[in-house]
Amino acid sequence: MKLEEILNKENYSRDEIIYLLNLKNPEEMQKLYKHADEVRKRYCGDEVHMRGIIEISNYCEQNCLYCGLREDNISLERFRMSVEEIIETANQITKLGIFTIVLQSGEDSEFDADFISHIIFSIKQKSNAAITLSLGERGFDEYRAWKIAGADRYLLKHETSNKKLYSLYHSKQKLIDRINHIKFLKRIGYQVGSGNMIGLPMQTIEDIADDILLCKELDLDMAAFGPFIPSPNTPYHSKNAGSPELTLKVTAVLRLVLKNVHIPATTALDTLDQLGREKGLNVGANVIMPDLTPHPYRDNYQIYPGKRGVADDPVESALKLQRRVEALGRKISFSRGDSMKIVLPAL
Ligand code: SAM
Ligand code: SF4
Repeated sequence: MKLEEILNKENYSRDEIIYLLNLKNPEEMQKLYKHADEVRKRYCGDEVHMRGIIEISNYCEQNCLYCGLREDNISLERFRMSVEEIIETANQITKLGIFTIVLQSGEDSEFDADFISHIIFSIKQKSNAAITLSLGERGFDEYRAWKIAGADRYLLKHETSNKKLYSLYHSKQKLIDRINHIKFLKRIGYQVGSGNMIGLPMQTIEDIADDILLCKELDLDMAAFGPFIPSPNTPYHSKNAGSPELTLKVTAVLRLVLKNVHIPATTALDTLDQLGREKGLNVGANVIMPDLTPHPYRDNYQIYPGKRGVADDPVESALKLQRRVEALGRKISFSRGDSMKIVLPAL
């Protein structure tokens, strides 16, 4: 296969995606990165969208083998933020000029449909910021109630498109259900983000190619692919972390395949590589998602150890990130950064 010919294609076969992910020659990798950056510029412009994450609860009823928030991790100090704290934090985020608020938690049924609806409604009373929910797999009636209360987007990663690996990592869940949830969310009008983790135990390059193709098939609005980082007190504590280099190749290929989709330079990549955000933004990414959870909670949202910026003041760390983006010659967007695709009206 000739690299130049593949790079200039409109559509990519599975074999071509695998070929690109397997590139090892530094010159060829630079060609891939440069091309992905050009495609990003053509479809998304130079703006970088910021999404402010509030980690509202670290309770979780799931036991994903890779995650530090898993139910069986009894060494983790658990918290739930109060309604007032969540709404106040959301206000602070919009004052920073960030107009997407991501409410994230473990799968915590204690935060029920009414509680989350009340928070969404209260935030929407004070600003037109977009609200993304990242609360795991929840009931279809809950998704519907939250959409009616004003939620705009839902982030639910498929984690892996390999059915066998999915069942291994998630003893209580099935891949088919996860995909049906993603499809349902889209159907009722959410802008939907999904994605995988790179470097999960037993995952192959072929699996990652299938993850990319699944994102295309699902016609997502955002695709988030971050490296796996082993977390203490989990069954995968002694496994290797995902490779930052492979993560960059995946980011570039995602941009070539998906084109007009939001792609973040993830915190996990920035945790493994001091310049992870910059490198991600240079190879196709156009979004960053700073953690704006207030102290003391941010220290206890330990999905994986050593999360970049966890000891910082949240506002300071957001400003620091903005400066890092501007130093690349990119512009911070002060809009909501909605989907680049047509958004269907809610049912
Ligand atoms: N509970 C919700 C869910 O699972 O969708 C949202 C919170 S969960 C902590 C957010 C994401 O963290 C997951 O989708 C997963 O991809 C990522 N994650 C979990 N454990 C990780 C690890 N050890 N390394 C990197 N990312 C991880
Ligand atoms: Fe819970 Fe999400 Fe972590 Fe799984 S990935 S254990 S659902 S917080």
